[in-house]
Amino acid sequence: MTSMPDLNGKLALVTGASRGIGYEIALQMARAGAHVIAVARTVGGLEELDDAIKAAGGEATLVPLDLTDFEGIDRLGGVIAERWGRLDILVANAGVLGTITPVAQMKAKTFDEVMAVNVTGTWRLIRSVDPLLRSAEAGRAIVISSSVAHKAKSYWGGYAASKAAIDMLARVWAAENAKGALRINLVNPGPTRTHMRAQAMPGENPDTLPTPAQTAAKIVPLAGADVTQTGLIFDVPTGSWMDVAPPAPA
Ligand code: NDP
Repeated sequence: MTSMPDLNGKLALVTGASRGIGYEIALQMARAGAHVIAVARTVGGLEELDDAIKAAGGEATLVPLDLTDFEGIDRLGGVIAERWGRLDILVANAGVLGTITPVAQMKAKTFDEVMAVNVTGTWRLIRSVDPLLRSAEAGRAIVISSSVAHKAKSYWGGYAASKAAIDMLARVWAAENAKGALRINLVNPGPTRTHMRAQAMPGENPDTLPTPAQTAAKIVPLAGADVTQTGLIFDVPTGSWMDVAPPAPA
């Protein structure tokens, strides 16, 4: 699965669109013809994306929103319903790392923030747009996971637990919708040259990693009408569909 899908006429909501992998997914989806609803907190990053999308002849709607503003997320589904009456694609990409530290030393504030953004925020968004996605002709939901959701890796505690939680939530959501047109899948992007990766691995040479654009190019095809899989994880580094992503390198 490598070719860019035709997303003309599609409406796609992408969270974490102000930088990194989400920015590139939003840009590439807009280039493929989608109208992108771009969600993040940093207005400057969203405006930069908007400029890039416009330069490519595409269209975006910017939604500066903190995913811990749960009532705001609830309202977003209503606003999309009112303005467009549908949503074809959801990319639940936004996430925070917290700190890389032993479980027993994690600060409560950091743990709570990681859970609020990665788990509760994502779930509230799923709940907010679920009716719109289910009524779309070929709804596609892509939830960004991580290999640490599937294999215990020392010091990644809060983040890993949050990804495991959202992973199962997406799989259950997929099981509940197995008979409909909506396809719901997870993605393990693999190590990618972003702010989050640099925060997690400060000693690593970023030039050795794929760029966000390279990673996004392998994720965007999962929004295509030809995707039949649901409830699985697409592993970007190997380009294969899996029940469970391979363990992260030590
Ligand atoms: P970045 O840190 O570069 O980007 C994270 C994005 O999430 C930003 O756009 C940020 O926007 C948004 N975000 C964070 N907190 C909030 C919030 N409270 N409300 C709204 N938006 C928020 O990370 P990556 O691009 O690396 O990560 C994207 C996804 O990929 C994440 O889910 C991550 O866990 C996953 N991943 C990344 C890997 C990598 O190697 N990079 C590997 C495996 C998984 P803003 O700050 O403007 O709100």
